[in-house]
Amino acid sequence: MNYERQTIPPEKIEHQLTICHEIFDRVTAHGARPLAMVDTYGCQQNEADSEKLRGYLAEMGYGFTEDEFQADVIVVNTCAVREHAEMRVLGNVGALNHTKKAKPGQIIAVCGCMVQQQHMTEKIRQSYPIVNLVFGPHELWRFPELLWQVMEKHGRVYATDKQNGAVAEGIPRNREGSVKAWLSIMYGCNNFCTYCVVPYVRGRERSRLPEDVVREARELVSAGYKDITLLGQNVNSYGRDLDRDVDFADLIRMINDIPGDFLIRFMTSHPKDATEKLFRTMAECEKCARQLHLPVQSGSDRILKAMNRSYTREKYLEEVSAARKWMPDLVLTTDIIVGFPGETDEDFAETLSLCEQVRFDAMFTFIYSKRVGTPAATMPDPFTREEKQKHFDALTELANRISAEKHGAYIGTRQRVLVDGETGREEYNLSARTNGGRLVHLKGDPEWVGRFMDVDITGGNTWALYGKEADGNG
Ligand code: SAH
Ligand code: SF4
Repeated sequence: MNYERQTIPPEKIEHQLTICHEIFDRVTAHGARPLAMVDTYGCQQNEADSEKLRGYLAEMGYGFTEDEFQADVIVVNTCAVREHAEMRVLGNVGALNHTKKAKPGQIIAVCGCMVQQQHMTEKIRQSYPIVNLVFGPHELWRFPELLWQVMEKHGRVYATDKQNGAVAEGIPRNREGSVKAWLSIMYGCNNFCTYCVVPYVRGRERSRLPEDVVREARELVSAGYKDITLLGQNVNSYGRDLDRDVDFADLIRMINDIPGDFLIRFMTSHPKDATEKLFRTMAECEKCARQLHLPVQSGSDRILKAMNRSYTREKYLEEVSAARKWMPDLVLTTDIIVGFPGETDEDFAETLSLCEQVRFDAMFTFIYSKRVGTPAATMPDPFTREEKQKHFDALTELANRISAEKHGAYIGTRQRVLVDGETGREEYNLSARTNGGRLVHLKGDPEWVGRFMDVDITGGNTWALYGKEADGNG
């Protein structure tokens, strides 16, 4: 590894907490509790980052609102993976003109992956004067200091320097929900898939120390969380940057050893680094969910090569067989990009045939989106949007059909599920997840939220299962 893993010293985080308390004195001086809103776009890593933003804001004395007209501080945590997400962010930030007019002291911050791209920061600088603060993912740990600067200076503050990123421990978290929790085990990505902006905006791969991850997992279990999802862009390369003899499978085992009744999930696994050791470990660890998200992106070797994915169709299929050998009941999901530059009808047919062969439980499908600065952005892209849309529709139809068939096969079975929330609907007022992560709608007592229980599956469609409490639950 030709760069050094950077960490933020604990005293620097302490300093941020001191600033939080200064802000607290300032914003609570007039009695009424100030309010903040954090609006999150994109992936689970962003959700986890927003929990940190809310953690800091809570330390500063802010309560939370969903109403942008009530908020004294609005933080928009953005995504850059596809153009569609960026357009939504820009539209919604533009709409904040109204709230700022109604509440002139309102502070608007835009952070996250989108603004780590220079052309986007420029766009905000020029066209969105209502925005007071812009900071990239690498600066999140010093959000209090940046917010303080805005309060002192009454001007605009930018913190989006290019860097590889660091690991910061000790940032307070304000988690959403009490059953499911995100646990970041590593940050950044080294893979440089040719279509993807993530390595440019999130920096290089850096792992948290295993003892920090295990301590956080232990805290989550004692706090009553039952479903812990380990997060990283490629969890299979966990630990490679550490001078320890530890890999992702070892980490799963350490977390599995924590006493308590809970489930371990993780995402995302890159097929180039998925090992038989990982599948064996999953099979041997009783708390590890039988669920694997293994994005294949394409079924064509030609396209996989152009994407720089570093595996072939054959290797992917072998991995799926190995994973299913260890876990016959595995729930397998994937991501697929349709319309990568130069993808022909023949390439796309290979993707369809791979999906028919593997029969994923669910597929997340995306139309290729050109990202500034990535190698794919300069590749010839002769096919029209309409042609790509036709492929996309065909893939969606296939994905929906297979999901419906897979869900249909659950009908009449008994499943152990974790009830994870209320839906607000009358007929099926609770939602739950099977061990493999499939959604189950249930009718029952709101007291069941947070409980593992047996349900009999009575129905299923493309998106979900339906069930009722099985006799004999304690
Ligand atoms: N690190 C994860 C993926 C993170 S991005 C992995 O490698 O699996 C989530 C998904 O968004 C990707 O799997 C891919 O399918 C999709 N994606 C990423 N960049 C994209 C782009 N430029 N256009 C369309 N989809 C994209
Ligand atoms: Fe993007 Fe590839 Fe890294 Fe995933 S592994 S974040 S798709 S570059």
